[in-house]
Amino acid sequence: MARQDRSRTASAAPRTNLLALDEPALERFVKDLGWPAFRARQILRWLYQERVREIARMTDLSKAERARLSGIAAIERIADCEVRRSDDGTRKLLLRLEDGLVIESVLIPDADRLTLCLSTQVGCTLDCGFCLTGQMGLKRNLAAHEIIEQALAAQDRLEPGERLTNIVLMGMGEPLANFEAVADAVARLTNPRWGFGISARRITLSTAGLASRLAEVAGLGVNLAVSLNATTDAQRTRLMPAVNRLHPLARLLAACRAYPLPPHRKLTFEYVLLAGENDSEQDAKRLAKLLHGIRCKVNLIPFNPFPGSPYRRPADADVLRFQSVLRQAGFDVLIRKSKGRDVLGACGQLGELVTPRRS
Ligand code: SAH
Repeated sequence: MARQDRSRTASAAPRTNLLALDEPALERFVKDLGWPAFRARQILRWLYQERVREIARMTDLSKAERARLSGIAAIERIADCEVRRSDDGTRKLLLRLEDGLVIESVLIPDADRLTLCLSTQVGCTLDCGFCLTGQMGLKRNLAAHEIIEQALAAQDRLEPGERLTNIVLMGMGEPLANFEAVADAVARLTNPRWGFGISARRITLSTAGLASRLAEVAGLGVNLAVSLNATTDAQRTRLMPAVNRLHPLARLLAACRAYPLPPHRKLTFEYVLLAGENDSEQDAKRLAKLLHGIRCKVNLIPFNPFPGSPYRRPADADVLRFQSVLRQAGFDVLIRKSKGRDVLGACGQLGELVTPRRS
């Protein structure tokens, strides 16, 4: 059937996926049709604010314009989306991409917030041993529209009265290893005229520490979180080999100190607590020293296990002791509640369950 369809349209040029065009590209597309520039913004609004799946529904275009557009373009939304709901209200969305690969996003309700955690790669460039995604290797980068599809799919599935308030680029992948697509996705998320209209202040990008690219994040206006996770190079190379070889601690922290932080904003440092690895009082004291003088807050993330993972979650008392050392040193320290653990939707639990590369 599919083959017949293809042969019937074989002579026609393939239709452009409107979602694959950023604003300037859509402006050019519209211009090539001889249409006024404002048509681009109308179309973008249908795509991201109304989330239509058919060009026929773009009712501020004339019937003739819609017919013409339908002949050369399409809205290729992903139809295959499975939702897994956790007992705590967290929802994990599994989206099957065109090439069959699956990515995951997580909707996390919490008091007055509804946070959406987006993936930026299928698998990950990096190889952090405590992260399930890191065990998958990199399958490929996501295109901007595949990052945005996660937000569209989540919006489509919000419950009555729910509204997305925050976005974190903390799902599968290393966002700074796919910066161009991430920047394009952020533009669509923040644009108030036709996009999602989410303020850049409510978006946080988390990096494992690609020091040389931190400054580019500042240009996006979003918040920056850095996954430090260790207090010596020996320890960090053991836990996060690829990234720490490229950007050792001293270099990473120098880049953090040089980060052009806007007034009233803070950097976030994430620190995954692994029992017996990096959770001692010594570690907490060293961490306080490393971060001394940086305007920041610290998010402690007790390890979330996944099948086959070699690490353990510390006892609550050890987590609290770690927090109190940092607090005494004057830091603003939160312990991240890891929601959605029963559906493998918490930090570090996204990805295919395969035999870990290293045991
Ligand atoms: N690559 C980016 C974003 C994805 S990871 C980064 O490294 O920041 C998002 C956060 O989850 C990071 O802070 C990471 O250190 C943390 N994390 C990874 N695996 C985890 C696990 N198993 N338990 C708890 N946190 C984990």
